[in-house]
Amino acid sequence: MSNSYDVIVVGAGFGGASSAALLAKRGLKVLLLDKNAKAGGKAMAISKGGWTYTAWLVVSAPVQNNVLEAVLKEVGMEGKVEFVTPGVQGPRFKQSSGKWVIGADEPTPDPVKIFSWLEVPEAEQADALGLLGEMTLMTPKDIAAMDDISYAEYLGRHKVSPGLWSFLTSLISDGCFVLPADAVAASEAITVVQQVFLRGGGVFAKGGIGRVAEAYAEAVGKFGGQTIFRSRVEKINVENGRVTGVSTDKETYRAPIVISNVGIQPTVLKLIGEKHFDKMYVNYVKDLVPSLSFIGARYFLSKPIIPTVPYGAVISRETSWNIDKWIKAKNGQLPEEMPVWFEVPSNYDPGAAPPGKQIVLTGFLGPTDPKLTEKDLKPWFEKGDKMMFEVFPDLEAAIEAREYYTPHDVSVLTRDSVLPGIGGECIGLAQMVGQGGAKKPSITSPIQGLFYVGCDAGGIGVGIQQATDSGMKVADHVMRYHRLRQSMI
Ligand SMILES: Cc1cc2nc3c(=O)[nH]c(=O)nc-3n(C[C@H](O)[C@H](O)[C@H](O)COP(=O)(O)OP(=O)(O)OC[C@H]3O[C@@H](n4cnc5c(N)ncnc54)[C@H](O)[C@@H]3O)c2cc1C
Repeated sequence: MSNSYDVIVVGAGFGGASSAALLAKRGLKVLLLDKNAKAGGKAMAISKGGWTYTAWLVVSAPVQNNVLEAVLKEVGMEGKVEFVTPGVQGPRFKQSSGKWVIGADEPTPDPVKIFSWLEVPEAEQADALGLLGEMTLMTPKDIAAMDDISYAEYLGRHKVSPGLWSFLTSLISDGCFVLPADAVAASEAITVVQQVFLRGGGVFAKGGIGRVAEAYAEAVGKFGGQTIFRSRVEKINVENGRVTGVSTDKETYRAPIVISNVGIQPTVLKLIGEKHFDKMYVNYVKDLVPSLSFIGARYFLSKPIIPTVPYGAVISRETSWNIDKWIKAKNGQLPEEMPVWFEVPSNYDPGAAPPGKQIVLTGFLGPTDPKLTEKDLKPWFEKGDKMMFEVFPDLEAAIEAREYYTPHDVSVLTRDSVLPGIGGECIGLAQMVGQGGAKKPSITSPIQGLFYVGCDAGGIGVGIQQATDSGMKVADHVMRYHRLRQSMI
């Protein structure tokens, strides 16, 4: 195959792989490059010594009408991924008695049961129901009007008892956006509340959710394109304000269109270089803020400890993050309790653990600095362990092996650190006030033929579905750009 393509996609995360597959299906000659040995990026599937899991905890939402399946369908790869949507979850809430109580474990839990679990006083339940109804039924226009206020500010306009506050923030802002509630844009949060309340949460895949991105990457070849792994792009080449292709350590590939999935900051500041951009744009890019990181543990257990549920969160009245609490934690003052998420792959995929054993992944907010070592983060890991062992008293004794994952591990698998203290973020750029909704960075760039895809630009929703939504939008946009370009040649 010659080294010339219609489009080169750098990075086979959910955003890059989905856009590459769609463009190949629509007839473009596509080259997809990734530095890793397989697709999936921040949600890569791993198989090791009889255990199969996503690199860390990844729970996807929504379930119904989700974009993961929409792309697979369009590229004819539905049969390649076996989705599992158990329809149940197992969150634990610490009630005033001090007991951790499981709740909301039914496919469509009755709000009154949730309120009683969260100890919402009876006199406040009608208001609480009103708030859930208001968020669930809010029109797109009203949601769009909330880009400039935080989710906490929106919730604060209502009477929300501490248990319900914790439920709505630990699970939505902390869990889905990996940001404190007073940073997340209310528009982004309410969009996800609607997705989860109306279309369900908890999509997994046998073999790990990264299988979806693998199937997208495979589709590129099926439609005549090429995917090359273990190929690190070192430079996106630009001449006279237009992209001309990319260079890896081994080859130079040419194309008039390059779609970058490696993050806006690494693209501009490293792969292209500041000198090709206006100073104002470089400053804008440098000022963009990523989400916080998710760090946690993988527990390989000698026997099943957590029964049936595929995932859950451990929350109390005290667990919600806010910016002040976060700053203190970053400076060494960790809160007494923090929300901890857990996923049990072997509860939705029996092949995920050797017979009679169980794997449990945990995740909680952490700093983004890839320079932090496991030793630096020891207090965070100990806190996460402590909360899990309190809720599941038999867990610690069943651990055969334990691994912690850090922002360094995330950065190595996904994006390069190009600015001090960041690179190990969980989602990508933060969906916060000033960067959320209509203020999200554009998929287009000042360089002709250069587009951004993935969680940094163009998509809506949570993590991998946001990246895939961006992939669909970028594919539509690039198709139009390609046709326009062809008509002018
Ligand atoms: C610990 C953790 C937990 C998470 N939990 C959830 C969850 O529960 N639910 C959810 O929906 N999402 C979750 N996410 C977030 C989700 O995984 C990401 O938001 C999403 O996968 C990002 O996709 P992306 O396409 O934007 O980019 P990425 O996944 O970052 O992909 C970028 C790709 O570019 C490649 N690349 C980078 N530089 C180069 C280069 N120079 N040359 C070639 N290739 C390069 C990388 O190897 C990578 O494959 C989690 C993420 C983490 C880290």
